[in-house]
Amino acid sequence: MFRIMAFVLCSLLASVSMAYELKIHKVDDNVYALVGDLSQRSTDNLGNNSTHGVIVTDEGVILIDSGASYLGAKQIHEAIQTFTQQSIKIVINSGGQDHRWLGNDYFQQLGATIISSLEAKADHQNRADEQLAFLESLLGDSLKGTKPFFATQTFDTELKLSLGGVDLELYHFGPAHTAGDSIIWMPSTRIMFTGDVVYNNRMLGIGPARNFQSWIDVFEKMASFKPDYIIPGHGNPSVLETATINTYQYLLFLRAKVAEILDNDGGMVDATKIDQSEYEYLENFETIAGRNAQAVFEQMEFDY
Ligand SMILES: [Zn+2]
Repeated sequence: MFRIMAFVLCSLLASVSMAYELKIHKVDDNVYALVGDLSQRSTDNLGNNSTHGVIVTDEGVILIDSGASYLGAKQIHEAIQTFTQQSIKIVINSGGQDHRWLGNDYFQQLGATIISSLEAKADHQNRADEQLAFLESLLGDSLKGTKPFFATQTFDTELKLSLGGVDLELYHFGPAHTAGDSIIWMPSTRIMFTGDVVYNNRMLGIGPARNFQSWIDVFEKMASFKPDYIIPGHGNPSVLETATINTYQYLLFLRAKVAEILDNDGGMVDATKIDQSEYEYLENFETIAGRNAQAVFEQMEFDY
């Protein structure tokens, strides 16, 4: 009996310890980053393989990106409650990926206003079924309770908003990782929330927008604000230089290497052989690097 109990206890401890907790980074007095897992969506990370921004004001909380599932949204809310009891008033969806918006329903039930660019909302509407089917295959039971809920306030290219004395500027400059990506600028702290425009610590994936050239342009516009600090879509908060190395320079690197191949009448096979080892330090390098080279080749060959 004791052995059975001990086994049950061990299994329970194992399942508890496997759950991935969001790491809380305090970036400024009232600004936090919640940093999720760097690897693929799973039962343990509830789909939150992403970084989320939180701004606490006297009138409530602004959350950037609601998580990939109902339970993922609840996990984000519980992390926020460790540093404030203020309610969540505004949720901004910075892009079209599941972890940017599929937790919306949880937060709208708490009375939050959900904001996204028009392009991002259209992307959510187009890909909701596809994203839920994909998540179902990876999360199983951890997806329970997840229902698509679309933004109730949208903007075309620019929106200014205020809550509790905090001013934010939202910009949709064009597609980056997804069609409707936005950046969120907080002038008072010079912090930029970039969503999937910036990947730190892990390798970016050329996303559903399939438009890496526009991603480069969007990054340049983001960088022109000269932010003191970046809260990215994946990985840890950083200064702009770090984000530039991990995201922007990698995109430029791929563009230059593929241009060389095209100039020499090379093909897709040559793209897959590009030596990307200088970016091997980024998580998921093994699974993503080759696919990125192929995606960049496809786009550049089309334009050539
Ligand atoms: Zn993402």
